[in-house]
Amino acid sequence: MPERKTVPALMLALPLLWSPPAAAQDEMSEAEAFVASNIIHIVLHEIGHAVIDQFALPVIGQEEDAADSFATLEVLTIYDDHVDILLDAAEAMLIMHDLTEAGGTPLDYFGVHDLDIQRGLRIVCHAVGLDPERYDEAARWTEMDPDQQAACEIEAETAIESWDALLEPYLREEGGSAAPAPVTLEDSALPEMRTFLADTGIMTDIAGYVGETFRWPQVPALVAADCGEANAWYDLDTVEIVMCYEFIDELFALAEQR
Ligand SMILES: [Zn+2]
Repeated sequence: MPERKTVPALMLALPLLWSPPAAAQDEMSEAEAFVASNIIHIVLHEIGHAVIDQFALPVIGQEEDAADSFATLEVLTIYDDHVDILLDAAEAMLIMHDLTEAGGTPLDYFGVHDLDIQRGLRIVCHAVGLDPERYDEAARWTEMDPDQQAACEIEAETAIESWDALLEPYLREEGGSAAPAPVTLEDSALPEMRTFLADTGIMTDIAGYVGETFRWPQVPALVAADCGEANAWYDLDTVEIVMCYEFIDELFALAEQR
């Protein structure tokens, strides 16, 4: 759990309602832990899209940035081992950037997402900004200078205060109970990916957390499925968060690039 003093506002009140995940990353191989970290950040990113949609939140700037900051701040708030999770998520994006460059694919400056390298470094920026002591090594690793670190602190605090203000009307009262979001792990042509996802308990943990934390007009369902592509998304029409088994498979391939 992050230090209370470093994250002043409401988001830190949430995890008190919720027990941290049971899946201990120290029982996993390094590659499995890396993949699990990334699944957590990706699913929470999609939850970010779901809260924006379901609570009709204003989005000033790129929604993809907002979903990333939601995911990062939620990880900081609800996971004891947030340092490992966020640095794995950042590293995956930096590796994807390197692969894009190495493959000669033109960088997509007009994309709805920032470039992978920016997304990865933004995760580190928010984490260093909110918890400089625990992310001291990450600041060095990314060659973040003191001015940049100060700017990240301001930006991260603005982000968390903004999310708090927007989410406050939609939080459940402490002690209020709610059903977890429904979870479906469909059968897969990549059965080992399904087994891995089931064993980590990530989907069930996040489903419990979001069910208990927010007053949803319609609680989003968490679905893992074969999609024919390595992707994840929030479906506005069906109110489903879809995590593709192909994406998990791709994350294992990324783990080998480390
Ligand atoms: Zn997104």
